[in-house]
Amino acid sequence: MLDPLGLFEYRVALHVHSRYSDGTGTPERIIAEARRVGLDVLWLTDHDGRRAATDPGSGYYGHLLFLVGAEITPPTNHYLVFGEVALVAPTAPLQTIIDSVNRQHGAGFIAHPDDPGNKTARLPSYRWDDRSVDGFTGLEVWNHLSDWARQIHHVPAGLWAALHPFSGLSQACPETLALWDERGRQRRIVGIGGTDAHAARIGYWPFSLTIFPYRRSFAAIRTHIYTNAPLASDWRRAEQQLLDGLLQGRVAIVNAALGSETGFRLWLQRESGAAEPMGTDVAYDSMWILRGLSPVPVGWEVFCNGRLVFRQDGPLLHYNPDSPGVWRVVLRRGPKRAVWIYSNPIYLR
Ligand SMILES: [Zn+2]
Ligand SMILES: [Zn+2]
Repeated sequence: MLDPLGLFEYRVALHVHSRYSDGTGTPERIIAEARRVGLDVLWLTDHDGRRAATDPGSGYYGHLLFLVGAEITPPTNHYLVFGEVALVAPTAPLQTIIDSVNRQHGAGFIAHPDDPGNKTARLPSYRWDDRSVDGFTGLEVWNHLSDWARQIHHVPAGLWAALHPFSGLSQACPETLALWDERGRQRRIVGIGGTDAHAARIGYWPFSLTIFPYRRSFAAIRTHIYTNAPLASDWRRAEQQLLDGLLQGRVAIVNAALGSETGFRLWLQRESGAAEPMGTDVAYDSMWILRGLSPVPVGWEVFCNGRLVFRQDGPLLHYNPDSPGVWRVVLRRGPKRAVWIYSNPIYLR
């Protein structure tokens, strides 16, 4: 069984900080590390600036497409922005920031909505406070740094975690998942997975330790974006193709620490063969079949409005949704059956 929609899939690391804000790597070095781990796209998001768009410049570096967004950073309510947009100052109200990105046809995501901060590391919480806003493209459902820091309850745990950057990667924050399902009942809310890579250093040479070198962050939480055609050789057109995928929810959140394969697909299909991709928003009827394909055998879980309704093992999923709702799947794999992939929802209204 092949994907009837014939989509193209790209492995993207997004939400990444360079020396232009509080990361420790130059953009050139980060590009080199992204190429080494075999990413297709690196989407840099420095705080409140897009200097890397001109130095070293957006475009292809070998096979890697390097794009420059930003993270607009008030004290709380961080907002990830993708596309060629002029940035609003972080002092503006969040709704003004969201509206400005939309007017410029960019995509914007609430960053780490339930970031807990960390008392041990004396980090404040950067959670999403202004929940009255709307119009954002979606939520950063899985944030590697934020979810990794959640396990640090005391200094020894912090030292252990610093040496084990993939620990704490068994699932996204349950509160954020619940928020995603709830908001999706009104409209499409696109979920992405961010690295929040800074390659932060602690201590001083020769005893310094880099927590999460970029290449290790890039081997953890990724966002896979699906396009209708191969990415264009002109980088501006390629960026637009990726933005279309983001805006339409043709996106999977992948925990690459469990496997970096491509080939996951989720779609709706009828007996006649007519198919609709992940992210689609269509009228419910009982003839739609939810179908899934995985490159390796996995444990499938089907959720409707945040409630687990079906489980199946193997490389294929075949399920007949019995009601309208926000339908999404989770793929588990490995001895601990940790989460490998969160699909974006299919909305049956
Ligand atoms: Zn942030
Ligand atoms: Zn960040």
